[in-house]
Amino acid sequence: MTTAYITHPDAKLHQTPAGHPEQVDRMAALETALGGAEFAALMRHHAPLASDVQVLRCHPETYLDRIRRAIPAAGIYQLDADTHVSNGSLNAALRGAGGACLGVDLVMRGDVRNAFVGMRPPGHHAETATPMGFCLFGTVAIAARHAMEQHGLSRVAVVDFDVHHGNGTQDLLWDESRALFVSSHQMPLWPGTGGADERGAHGNVINVPLAPGTDGATFRRVYEDIVLPQLDRFAPELVLISAGFDAHRDDPLAQLELSEQDFAWVTGALCDIAARHCDGRVVSVLEGGYDLRALSTSVAAHVAVLMEQQA
Ligand SMILES: [Zn+2]
Repeated sequence: MTTAYITHPDAKLHQTPAGHPEQVDRMAALETALGGAEFAALMRHHAPLASDVQVLRCHPETYLDRIRRAIPAAGIYQLDADTHVSNGSLNAALRGAGGACLGVDLVMRGDVRNAFVGMRPPGHHAETATPMGFCLFGTVAIAARHAMEQHGLSRVAVVDFDVHHGNGTQDLLWDESRALFVSSHQMPLWPGTGGADERGAHGNVINVPLAPGTDGATFRRVYEDIVLPQLDRFAPELVLISAGFDAHRDDPLAQLELSEQDFAWVTGALCDIAARHCDGRVVSVLEGGYDLRALSTSVAAHVAVLMEQQA
């Protein structure tokens, strides 16, 4: 069994203003990361558009209509202080969500052991009816609901190691007893949510705030002491990852001090959880990561560990 890499050229058609950190060149960083001979064994798939049914499991129809109407014929339209859409943004975001659902289908069918979805814009800040923080749709939450409704799962773990709190995923899965959402993130930092006291309607949310300057050793200890034991107790049938690489020490948007090796370590630890409980089924979805070089090397480290996993 192998690893799927799910992406689509439409990700480059989502345009943001000059100087915006969530830029088209992030896709080139992914191509650099995964273009080498050591990644030739990846099973490459084009990300399909998410269906309305898939999106509407997380967002109301009025919200989907609002995003559709906001798409400009040309130029860039600003939704909030950080979040923009261009003519290609709807398809890019829908392919991100559709790609994540395809990843779930592939691992649930046993076609691949795990999958990485490399698309933009990211998704974990989009709330039920509010675009936020570069995000339009709650990609990983849509994938979680797809796993529940399409594949009948009742224990889906979503682990978010992006440096920012996954406030959108938390909002979308707050009252979802079939999901365990775990977010580690820098605090204080935008968006300001993610305190350890935010626990979800069923105790199904675990927030692990990390102080600015947290290094890899502390990060690993927090996962070993708090995150991994809770995931083991949950015994997931599927592990979804919101893989943001902006906790890297070179990232311009935050102040954590992680390295590529730390991302490889946490990837391996999450794959170990999946191996113990669900035949290694992992679907990882790209979120942030804004230093292009660090994004590229971190994605390479992350995907290399996914590919090492054997049945
Ligand atoms: Zn982030």
